[in-house]
Amino acid sequence: MKTFSFSRPKRLFNSVFTKILAIGLITWLCILIAALSIFIITRHTSESPFLKNLGAYAQYIINDLGTPPDLDQAEEISQKTGLHITYISKEQRWSTRRPFPEIEELRYRSFHGDTTLQFRRRAGHHIIKYQSDHGLFFFESMDEYEEREQNAVYLLILLTLLSLILFFSYLTIRRVLAPLRWVYTAVHKVKDGDFSHQVPVRGNDELTDLAGGFNEMTSQLKTMLENKENLLRDVSHELRTPLTRIRVALEFLEDSTAKKDISEDVQAIEKMIENILQTSRTTHRANKLERQEVNLAEITKTVADRYTDSLPRVICKLPKEPCLLLADPLMLQSLLTNCIDNGLKFSETTADPVNITLNKEGDKAIISIIDYGCGIEENELPFIFEPFYRVDQSRSRQTGGFGLGLPICKTIVEAHDGTISIESKKDQGTTVIITLPCVD
Ligand code: ADP
Repeated sequence: MKTFSFSRPKRLFNSVFTKILAIGLITWLCILIAALSIFIITRHTSESPFLKNLGAYAQYIINDLGTPPDLDQAEEISQKTGLHITYISKEQRWSTRRPFPEIEELRYRSFHGDTTLQFRRRAGHHIIKYQSDHGLFFFESMDEYEEREQNAVYLLILLTLLSLILFFSYLTIRRVLAPLRWVYTAVHKVKDGDFSHQVPVRGNDELTDLAGGFNEMTSQLKTMLENKENLLRDVSHELRTPLTRIRVALEFLEDSTAKKDISEDVQAIEKMIENILQTSRTTHRANKLERQEVNLAEITKTVADRYTDSLPRVICKLPKEPCLLLADPLMLQSLLTNCIDNGLKFSETTADPVNITLNKEGDKAIISIIDYGCGIEENELPFIFEPFYRVDQSRSRQTGGFGLGLPICKTIVEAHDGTISIESKKDQGTTVIITLPCVD
């Protein structure tokens, strides 16, 4: 088996921290590239061949304005072209725009090497500055709408790109942290007693080590538990012979209080040993079920009929139609007997009868065993399926249990792919609910 060591020095690029940091940096880089691309595309558009021909265009307009340039002519051209024209020279200054615009000299980009033609954009308007032989011309677009629309398109592209980048980052982080989710699921499985569940071990970082370490831990726990059960079974088995000898030897002693006490203790130990061996046999059989098609309604009736003389009574409510399961009939009988025995053991003889109801819901058989006995405290409920757990030690001694009944029930139900749960209210009663899969 591969051994996982947490102290092994990690290569930097295998660290989860490095991976998350790298994802952050790559995301940031992608955002930067996207933003830069949009910026460059925008700039590129503004320097398209059309704009490069602006010089000639401006020159044509200037020619049309005549020498010196005429404002009336400028007004006419302005109407036709949608451009405001402003002229500044030593002799005169006029503009088709009212009031006369404030002329900013700064931040113009030049398109001609000799800087005759310069261009800028301000508040959604294109402004062309043209230095002719006799004066300075400014041509300014009246309409800012088109650029706004274009900006909206670029903004939309940028947002889409950002969303995509963030989405892919999310997927990558999810992938890197997936072992954490697997371990989380596995912890819950182990908590419910499934020690055979293994976490997938992929990659080569701390989380992979965690998954591997977790698998190793559950395998060792499984082996430890199996060893413990085997030891318990073997010791119990071995104790039977000396106990029989003690019982025989006791028969030869004279009657006394001591003999009576020892005899009672020997009986209790024998009962406990029988219980442990019975549990071991049931668990063994539950792992190798002898399944056949059985009618759960029939099995329930057979078991309930054994309690005709019990106090309190046992009442059965079964469906008329058969409830077919692929199950081991002996195991199902053992399951029902354990639950009904508990219902009777923990109820006063004068209590209401123990009720057994069987219902078929879809492809599931639901069987409830309801008693009106002493009930169980809410804080005890999570532990009652644990082996040797008894709620009230003194009362359990009276009732003769060793806390092995419910763990056996759980083993049997789970071997049949079903579920078992208990609802209980102190001093009111207890309901055991068993769900088993039916055959159609
Ligand atoms: P036991 O052999 O001691 O009955 P179980 O595993 O069947 O062992 O039950 C464990 C403990 O759960 C019991 O000791 C008892 O305290 C409690 N318990 C189980 N069933 C009932 C019930 N129907 N009513 C009240 N307490 C119950």
